[in-house]
Amino acid sequence: MTSKLSLNNSVQYLRGVGPERHKLLARLGLRRLGDVFYFFPRRHEIRWPVKKVSELTGEEKECVRGRVASRGLVRMRHGQTLFRAVLSDGQKAVFGTWFNQPYLVKAIPSGSVVTFYGKAEREGRQWKMVHPEYEIHADPDAESIHSGRLVPIYPLTEDLSQKAVRQIVFRVLTDHLMLLEDPIPPALRARLGLEELRTALRQIHFPDSEARRRGAYRRLVFDEFFMMQAVVQMKKNEFQKEAPEILHAGGDGVVQRLLGSAGFALTEGQKSAVEEVLHDMKRGRPMNRLVQGDVGSGKTIVSAAALAFTAANGFQGALMAPTEVLAQQHYFTLSRLFEPIGISCGFLAQSMKPREKEEVLSRALDGGIKILVGTHALIEERVRFHRLGLVVVDEQHKFGVFQREVLLQKGHMAPSATQAPADASCPPSAGRAHFLLTTATPIPRTLALTLYGDLDISTIRELPGGRKPIQTFWVGEDRRGEVYALLDALIAKGRQGYVVCPLIDEKSFSSKSVLTAHKELAAIFSHRNVGLLHGRMKGAEKEQVMRDFRERRIDLLVSTVVIEVGVDVPNASLVIVENAERFGLAQLHQLRGRVGRGSEESFCVLFSDSAAAETAERLAAFEKMESGFDIAEKDLKLRGAGDIVGEKQHGFPRLRIGDLVQDMGILIEARKEAERLVAEDPRLESPKNRSLRNALRCRRLLEPRGFTGVVP
Ligand code: ADP
Ligand code: MG
Repeated sequence: MTSKLSLNNSVQYLRGVGPERHKLLARLGLRRLGDVFYFFPRRHEIRWPVKKVSELTGEEKECVRGRVASRGLVRMRHGQTLFRAVLSDGQKAVFGTWFNQPYLVKAIPSGSVVTFYGKAEREGRQWKMVHPEYEIHADPDAESIHSGRLVPIYPLTEDLSQKAVRQIVFRVLTDHLMLLEDPIPPALRARLGLEELRTALRQIHFPDSEARRRGAYRRLVFDEFFMMQAVVQMKKNEFQKEAPEILHAGGDGVVQRLLGSAGFALTEGQKSAVEEVLHDMKRGRPMNRLVQGDVGSGKTIVSAAALAFTAANGFQGALMAPTEVLAQQHYFTLSRLFEPIGISCGFLAQSMKPREKEEVLSRALDGGIKILVGTHALIEERVRFHRLGLVVVDEQHKFGVFQREVLLQKGHMAPSATQAPADASCPPSAGRAHFLLTTATPIPRTLALTLYGDLDISTIRELPGGRKPIQTFWVGEDRRGEVYALLDALIAKGRQGYVVCPLIDEKSFSSKSVLTAHKELAAIFSHRNVGLLHGRMKGAEKEQVMRDFRERRIDLLVSTVVIEVGVDVPNASLVIVENAERFGLAQLHQLRGRVGRGSEESFCVLFSDSAAAETAERLAAFEKMESGFDIAEKDLKLRGAGDIVGEKQHGFPRLRIGDLVQDMGILIEARKEAERLVAEDPRLESPKNRSLRNALRCRRLLEPRGFTGVVP
């Protein structure tokens, strides 16, 4: 049968759909014909074998087939109805009953061949099934859809029945499968023993056996990972094109001086990260590197080394941080390190006065500022650099892919012609800048492969020496007195602490707000200095509070999650988290990482009286886990990939079938094959890769003019 439709046709015009169902299907994401093939069942039900009445056991759901011998509708009191149909297999009979479904009189005609699927019960000497599922075999030779096989069970929406959806998918597979082209070249398929696409789709929906279903699953998961990896590899290639204009030739001495003034010796992990970064920047190709290391492992100094190196080579560097509090801290730290070696720093945030902003913008443009530190303000349209050599994005998981790309594009922008460059011997850079990302949310291997497959990764595995494990306690309200006593004792010893609340002001009775907590604690600890910090305060106020905290004029800081990432006050040794049930594992780990940054013994106390089992599992697990890597793996299992990559990670393609944890083996295989493919045919121009190229375009992974690697 030939089809005149295309994959882009609306499902509305399929047989058995129409405008009403069309709306319901759209809720399930089924809009175009092409969507239907990839609307995967959640599971399959074994509706097999088909029995004779004498073979029924009544132990579990069973299929039984026969001819409708008699049937009838009984009207009962209060307008209720009972429909009854007797199936005979030639020897014995079974009857089905349905309450209040009078339309079955039309649906189940006398004499038709029907299969019931349900739990049989004895009634006297006869078998009966109450509300069995049924399938009418109008053509006895046609393939069964709802019975007598492994039957797919789909995710549903209200007002749409399993049977209706199954019927639609079955028809589409029967009538339109030939519209699909196999994106995987036959040679590769043969080598890996993968099914052909059309067969695999048929078998994933309506499998002949569990083994066939598994084979189909492997094939389709492979597709998904392979396509993602192909794009990632192409992107990596593109990124690594020669760019001699950002060659960093010398300047190691400046880096050594900077490291010498840090006040500590680098750990092995930090050393090799710095080496890898400098090596990348000396290659005449843009660096694209992620430094991952647990909270407190000392990533800032690695970023600082890279920034010093770019400045030493006559370029500018930009450092973007996700919060103003953290950006201010970095500005403070970097100025202290850089000003003595003659590298000028600037700071930019949305909250600054227009005049201050203008000043910073013009000095970035004329090259007067060598290192610009800021928040999202850095990706505002108006920021222009004279000669940008390096972009650092700190806590990169807090930014979307799009935001990182925009900042990177600043490297492409030449300054306006009217602006005379401060240093005429340095021509503006035309190519891409080097790119360095850091993250303290350790990324499990699977995610690193998928999301960051186009990045090189440096991992700092150890914490600086002399750190003690942070003691973590999950407690209820009844222990509050004890916790406050510990807090007071620590303050008496000269330490400081944080209290973190989920909200700024009271929106619900179930959570403590930072304003309420601050009032209470200021009263309880009236003999101490209690500070307040939240996102609605002005930039200058926040800065003042953080400075007071750093310089120990504040003993106890009551804060929202504005301190979640990056904040570094090594003297703080207790962090209390209110309503801990409201935070995810990764977030709790970040909050805990605000302490234990020095050599003192540190504590993390989670208050939660939540009774939810899911919360209990999470908090109990957190109490025992120290390593951010373990926590991230656990998080991936508990919550799926979304939470780890952060809500803002819009660039992460949603997986339709594959599972990052369970299908790691397939992912690794797909990555290897994608690498090989792109090495052979970097732009997928060869005729044998034509279908793959089309498939990538259809999925909008590949633009006709190039590729983005970002799924909109
Ligand atoms: P993170 O990796 O969380 O960004 P930071 O760079 O903020 O960590 O470093 C955490 C703290 O550890 C800072 O106070 C920093 O000065 C200190 N630190 C970093 N590296 C070392 C080291 N090698 N030895 C001792 N202290 C270090
Ligand atoms: Mg940091």
